[in-house]
Amino acid sequence: MKPEDNDRIKAKKYLGQHFLIDKNIAEKIADSLLYQGNVLEIGPGMGILTAFLLKREHVNLAVIEIDGESVDYLHKYFPDLRVIQEDFLKFDLSVIFQGQFAIIGNFPYNISAPILFRLLAYRRYIPEFTGMLQKEVAERIAQQPGSKEYGILSVLLQTFYEAKYLFTVNETVFNPPPKVKSGVIRLTRKEDFNLDCDEKLYFNVVKTAFNQRRKTLRNSLKGFEKSRLIDSDILRKRPEQLPFEVFIEITKQISN
Ligand code: SAH
Repeated sequence: MKPEDNDRIKAKKYLGQHFLIDKNIAEKIADSLLYQGNVLEIGPGMGILTAFLLKREHVNLAVIEIDGESVDYLHKYFPDLRVIQEDFLKFDLSVIFQGQFAIIGNFPYNISAPILFRLLAYRRYIPEFTGMLQKEVAERIAQQPGSKEYGILSVLLQTFYEAKYLFTVNETVFNPPPKVKSGVIRLTRKEDFNLDCDEKLYFNVVKTAFNQRRKTLRNSLKGFEKSRLIDSDILRKRPEQLPFEVFIEITKQISN
């Protein structure tokens, strides 16, 4: 069925709705997904990405969308699609499929960070996460230690995933256009994604270090009971200089 013009949804700002209108770019994003098997699309909106995902072989697709108007639209134009009308940030993702699934989307930028923290929490289920975010966030995730943009999400995501920045997308291919450029990334889970230190403490150490990123670790990590056990070489450093392996080392040093 061809969408009728008066069916088109007026974007809701509070839901971060910026609908992609360029089909070539939608196809390019869909083609960036390497995983074959179960796939969950977050925020399909009017389904511009969805249409390309449905054409792919070896993809068993479900979509999760919070907006009732978008859900009605999807039911009308994609009658066979499995649509879950829920908040991605609240829904228990483990019940959608049996086993593992990849995530894809042109994500709502107003909740990028919470989406990425959710990925971290559910990483056991999620071997790949591919899609579009604000360019700045996409770049930050893939950034190596030593750069100003390297931060909490870079460290935490790189602990478990290989991050690859794929391409940049201009404001002009959205309706309404966002204020910023967009970037498409692919995160591929590492073969060994177990953390061999106290996970809660690890997340806490990384967050604490970056919350005072201009201080040396000697100052920012003072509050941890056993911080005196950390190597003095490490204590002289600032968080943005350190790869995730060093944060694991720190966590081990203060947890025994
Ligand atoms: N993928 C579409 C829409 C992108 S806009 C396209 O490329 O055109 C972001 C989409 O995420 C919107 O459809 C919005 O309703 C949806 N969304 C926003 N917050 C959400 C949430 N918490 N859970 C699920 N979907 C959400």
